[in-house]
Amino acid sequence: MKSVLPIFVFIDACGWEIIKSDPFARSFAPHRRRLTAVFGYSSACVPSILSGRRPAENRNWCYFVFDPPNSPFRSLRPLRWLPSAITGRRLFRRWLSKFVKRQLSFRGYFDLYNIPFRNISLYDFTEKKSPLQPGGMNRGLNIFDHLYLEQIPYHVSSPAASEQENLAALKADISAERIDFAFLYWPGLDALLHQVGNQSAEVPRKLREYERWLEDLLEFASAHYTEVRLYVFSDHGMANCDEQIDLMSRVEKLPLKVGEDYAVVYDSTMARFWFLKPGVRDQIASCLQGVPEGRILADAELDELGALFPDRYFGELIFLVREGVLIVPSHMGARPIRAMHGYHPADKHSYAALCTNMREVDQAVQAIPDMFNLMRSEAQFAHGLNRASIRSATAIPHTG
Ligand SMILES: [Zn+2]
Repeated sequence: MKSVLPIFVFIDACGWEIIKSDPFARSFAPHRRRLTAVFGYSSACVPSILSGRRPAENRNWCYFVFDPPNSPFRSLRPLRWLPSAITGRRLFRRWLSKFVKRQLSFRGYFDLYNIPFRNISLYDFTEKKSPLQPGGMNRGLNIFDHLYLEQIPYHVSSPAASEQENLAALKADISAERIDFAFLYWPGLDALLHQVGNQSAEVPRKLREYERWLEDLLEFASAHYTEVRLYVFSDHGMANCDEQIDLMSRVEKLPLKVGEDYAVVYDSTMARFWFLKPGVRDQIASCLQGVPEGRILADAELDELGALFPDRYFGELIFLVREGVLIVPSHMGARPIRAMHGYHPADKHSYAALCTNMREVDQAVQAIPDMFNLMRSEAQFAHGLNRASIRSATAIPHTG
């Protein structure tokens, strides 16, 4: 029996609005708090949680950037001759993404999404390493680097495994009593919400399933650790998409060419532009100003959001749509989906949540990057206590 185990359960997209009026985890993690998200998708939020820093500091923000000299995708250009009936298919894209990921030895999550093969050699992919591993950040350290350096034994989920496989893997480490910190990652709710929206009856059903798993985990862990400190938290929420805009065809009406005049990545809720010739910026900006569903973000606002990059690595101009609007088609998908995240962090459905069985959580924990300090101090606390109990157990031999 060990003294303390802090378990951090990260449920992707389990936002404040999702659980606000739901009794989720109330019986075993009654202390809950709303957390401010980070501007961007999971590719921005997860690294922020794991590093305690915002995108501008760790250079993990959006997946694709305009960077022809560093593009690893040159070999895919011949695919532009294939009919779009094949290359546009999700199944083909998914298979090819897996193949490319292996070829390029990318360690993180990778998907080619809907990036056109015609222009694919203009782009680089920014998450080549897994943020869930030591050395996983584009810049600086993450929680796993710190745990490694401080020699604190920990458990972390493998994104390739299913939710239940990851739960079973954690239980194996708990029963061996070999860890002082656990990070469990469940992405199922995010996928469900994208598909069915935030009002579907399937959402509370999934929450009930998580509750069963969590209660079982708590009971299991309590047989091996005197105190189990449970923190269930998320990275953002999910907004239903009731409006769509075809931003791509509006911009493509301009007498400009991708790759010659400008480059662009259409994410689901934002469009990021790079300008290759003088005067192009004004043309694109005035086109975007005529799109009432969104707005161009000023540098001051990007700076405030921790997403201003002085070298404009992720785009020279960032256009963001309002909550509930989906850019379709985009480079993320050809078809609409029911719900999305990645809107302004101040929008209602962007907020994340924290539920815990700990009465006293530092008031400084208000936004998702603050989870880093909480994880780090909990790991250090548990490690200190667990080590002391091992020492005292060896000092006084058990004679019973
Ligand atoms: Zn998502």
